[in-house]
Amino acid sequence: MTKPLVAVLSGAGISTDSGIPDYRGPQGLWRRDPEAEKLVTYEYYMGDPEIRRRSWQMRRKNRALSAEPNAAHRAIVDLERSGVPVRVITQNVDGLHQMAGLPARKVLELHGSARSFVCTGCHARGPMEEALARLDAGEDDPPCRECGAILKSATVMFGQRLDPVVLGEALAIAKACQVFIAVGTSLQVQPAAGLAGVAADHGARLVIVNAEPTPYDELADEVVREPIGTALPRLLRELAAAERRPRSEEG
Ligand code: ZN
Repeated sequence: MTKPLVAVLSGAGISTDSGIPDYRGPQGLWRRDPEAEKLVTYEYYMGDPEIRRRSWQMRRKNRALSAEPNAAHRAIVDLERSGVPVRVITQNVDGLHQMAGLPARKVLELHGSARSFVCTGCHARGPMEEALARLDAGEDDPPCRECGAILKSATVMFGQRLDPVVLGEALAIAKACQVFIAVGTSLQVQPAAGLAGVAADHGARLVIVNAEPTPYDELADEVVREPIGTALPRLLRELAAAERRPRSEEG
């Protein structure tokens, strides 16, 4: 018999202990600063070279790429290594789940990754460090080396659609999992938030770990308000322990 699949939906709150602020949430830094929001809005970015120059400078200055995974990221890796099938659906673009040691194929990045760049013409990709090195070398809006088109961070900017393939996989996981843990997300941004509802509708146990109330709290089997850095490791240890218990001890 296969073990129950655990899905973790992670939002900005899981990375604050790693020193990464909430940029894109409803109360995030970008939403509160219209000028900053332009730097990550597709229409402005594509239409205005000055916005692109400032956007590249912002990427160069913000040290999200040097952040380290924290106890919550590591707890998910421990659960996966204990043999429980785990899938992570993340709203974060920091790549910290993979850096903590989770295999990349087990992480769905709904909003893409800030660790890569992508060409808006030919879709060529590369490591963000490579693009930032070109800035260090004096370019202020580095074009694609393959086709000359505009490069951008491989994140989903405001005004861009989520990748339908990634979203489809996330939906399939929400429907198939037995436990769905939403951690560090206000569950206010669709369609990511709706995944919690889909999971609950399909019979999953819904656990919400978030400092603030969410619209899905009433639907949840368990709501945890403790700090994520201690709450998530405890929850996942309990889950792994329950999986190790023989079936006869249940009920
Ligand atoms: Zn290109």
